[in-house]
Amino acid sequence: GLPPYDPQNIFARILRGEIPAKAVHEDAFALAFHDINPQAPVHVLVIPKGAYVSQADFAAHASDAEIAGFWRAVGHVARTLGLEATGYRILSNMGEDAGQEVPHFHVHIFGGRRLGHMLP
Ligand code: 5GP
Repeated sequence: GLPPYDPQNIFARILRGEIPAKAVHEDAFALAFHDINPQAPVHVLVIPKGAYVSQADFAAHASDAEIAGFWRAVGHVARTLGLEATGYRILSNMGEDAGQEVPHFHVHIFGGRRLGHMLP
Protein backbone atom coordinates (compact mmCIF):
# COMPACT_ATOMS: atom_id res chain seq x y z
CA GLY A 1 0.00 0.00 0.00
CA LEU A 2 0.89 3.64 -0.22
CA PRO A 3 2.29 5.60 2.71
CA PRO A 4 0.50 8.82 3.62
CA TYR A 5 1.97 11.95 2.03
CA ASP A 6 5.01 13.19 3.92
CA PRO A 7 5.27 16.99 3.61
CA GLN A 8 8.98 16.75 4.49
CA ASN A 9 9.88 14.70 1.40
CA ILE A 10 12.62 16.23 -0.71
CA PHE A 11 10.38 17.27 -3.62
CA ALA A 12 7.93 18.98 -1.26
CA ARG A 13 10.91 20.92 0.08
CA ILE A 14 11.97 21.82 -3.46
CA LEU A 15 8.42 23.03 -4.18
CA ARG A 16 8.57 25.26 -1.08
CA GLY A 17 11.95 26.62 -2.14
CA GLU A 18 13.70 25.17 0.92
CA ILE A 19 16.11 23.21 -1.28
CA PRO A 20 17.46 24.58 -4.58
CA ALA A 21 16.77 22.88 -7.89
CA LYS A 22 17.71 23.67 -11.47
CA ALA A 23 14.23 24.46 -12.76
CA VAL A 24 13.42 24.19 -16.45
CA HIS A 25 9.70 24.99 -16.22
CA GLU A 26 7.13 26.08 -13.69
CA ASP A 27 3.42 26.79 -14.00
CA ALA A 28 0.31 26.57 -11.83
CA PHE A 29 0.26 22.77 -11.93
CA ALA A 30 3.82 21.53 -12.31
CA LEU A 31 7.49 22.12 -11.64
CA ALA A 32 10.23 20.58 -13.81
CA PHE A 33 13.88 20.45 -12.81
CA HIS A 34 17.08 18.59 -13.67
CA ASP A 35 17.68 15.32 -11.83
CA ILE A 36 20.61 15.60 -9.41
CA ASN A 37 22.02 12.28 -10.67
CA PRO A 38 21.34 12.31 -14.42
CA GLN A 39 21.13 8.98 -16.25
CA ALA A 40 21.06 10.54 -19.74
CA PRO A 41 22.23 13.80 -21.36
CA VAL A 42 18.74 15.12 -20.58
CA HIS A 43 17.20 13.83 -17.35
CA VAL A 44 14.45 16.03 -16.01
CA LEU A 45 11.84 15.37 -13.34
CA VAL A 46 8.34 16.79 -13.61
CA ILE A 47 6.25 16.95 -10.45
CA PRO A 48 2.72 18.16 -9.77
CA LYS A 49 2.36 21.00 -7.28
CA GLY A 50 -0.23 19.04 -5.32
CA ALA A 51 0.60 16.52 -2.59
CA TYR A 52 0.40 13.07 -4.21
CA VAL A 53 2.66 10.18 -3.28
CA SER A 54 2.51 8.36 -6.61
CA GLN A 55 0.86 8.08 -10.01
CA ALA A 56 -1.83 5.90 -8.42
CA ASP A 57 -2.62 8.58 -5.82
CA PHE A 58 -2.48 11.35 -8.46
CA ALA A 59 -4.79 9.56 -10.91
CA ALA A 60 -7.27 8.72 -8.16
CA HIS A 61 -7.36 12.03 -6.30
CA ALA A 62 -6.15 14.95 -8.45
CA SER A 63 -8.70 17.13 -10.24
CA ASP A 64 -9.11 16.92 -14.00
CA ALA A 65 -7.47 20.36 -14.26
CA GLU A 66 -4.45 19.18 -12.26
CA ILE A 67 -4.08 16.04 -14.35
CA ALA A 68 -4.41 17.91 -17.64
CA GLY A 69 -2.08 20.67 -16.49
CA PHE A 70 0.55 18.21 -15.31
CA TRP A 71 0.63 16.18 -18.52
CA ARG A 72 0.64 19.31 -20.67
CA ALA A 73 3.67 20.44 -18.68
CA VAL A 74 5.43 17.12 -19.39
CA GLY A 75 4.86 17.62 -23.11
CA HIS A 76 5.87 21.26 -22.94
CA VAL A 77 9.15 20.43 -21.20
CA ALA A 78 10.07 17.71 -23.71
CA ARG A 79 9.30 20.08 -26.56
CA THR A 80 11.21 23.05 -25.15
CA LEU A 81 14.23 20.87 -24.38
CA GLY A 82 14.32 19.96 -28.08
CA LEU A 83 13.54 16.28 -27.59
CA GLU A 84 10.61 15.92 -29.95
CA ALA A 85 12.65 15.42 -33.12
CA THR A 86 14.86 12.66 -31.73
CA GLY A 87 12.49 11.16 -29.17
CA TYR A 88 12.61 10.61 -25.46
CA ARG A 89 11.35 8.37 -22.68
CA ILE A 90 9.02 9.10 -19.78
CA LEU A 91 8.96 6.88 -16.71
CA SER A 92 7.41 6.87 -13.26
CA ASN A 93 8.34 4.53 -10.44
CA MET A 94 5.50 3.53 -8.16
CA GLY A 95 6.17 1.91 -4.81
CA GLU A 96 8.66 -0.56 -3.45
CA ASP A 97 9.00 -3.05 -6.30
CA ALA A 98 9.70 -0.19 -8.73
CA GLY A 99 12.27 1.32 -6.36
CA GLN A 100 10.48 4.64 -5.89
CA GLU A 101 12.80 6.74 -3.74
CA VAL A 102 10.94 10.01 -3.38
CA PRO A 103 7.31 9.74 -2.22
CA HIS A 104 6.01 12.68 -4.27
CA PHE A 105 4.66 11.68 -7.69
CA HIS A 106 7.14 12.46 -10.45
CA VAL A 107 7.75 11.62 -14.07
CA HIS A 108 11.28 11.20 -15.35
CA ILE A 109 12.05 12.51 -18.86
CA PHE A 110 15.13 10.92 -20.43
CA GLY A 111 16.61 12.00 -23.74
CA GLY A 112 19.61 13.21 -25.68
CA ARG A 113 21.00 9.79 -26.57
CA ARG A 114 19.88 6.42 -27.89
CA LEU A 115 18.20 4.87 -24.89
CA GLY A 116 17.70 1.32 -26.11
CA HIS A 117 14.74 -0.75 -25.15
CA MET A 118 14.12 -0.84 -21.44
CA LEU A 119 11.61 -3.38 -20.28
CA PRO A 120 11.95 -5.39 -17.09
P1 5GP B 1 12.62 7.63 -8.06
O1 5GP B 1 13.54 6.49 -7.81
O2 5GP B 1 11.86 8.03 -6.82
O3 5GP B 1 11.75 7.45 -9.26
O4 5GP B 1 13.54 8.85 -8.49
C1 5GP B 1 13.97 9.84 -7.64
C2 5GP B 1 14.92 10.71 -8.44
O5 5GP B 1 15.10 11.91 -7.75
C3 5GP B 1 16.31 10.09 -8.64
O6 5GP B 1 16.58 10.01 -10.04
C4 5GP B 1 17.24 11.05 -7.90
O7 5GP B 1 18.47 11.23 -8.55
C5 5GP B 1 16.44 12.34 -7.86
N1 5GP B 1 16.72 13.18 -6.70
C6 5GP B 1 16.77 12.77 -5.40
N2 5GP B 1 17.01 13.81 -4.60
C7 5GP B 1 17.10 14.91 -5.40
C8 5GP B 1 17.33 16.28 -5.14
O8 5GP B 1 17.50 16.73 -4.01
N3 5GP B 1 17.36 17.12 -6.21
C9 5GP B 1 17.15 16.67 -7.49
N4 5GP B 1 17.20 17.58 -8.48
N5 5GP B 1 16.93 15.38 -7.77
C10 5GP B 1 16.90 14.50 -6.74
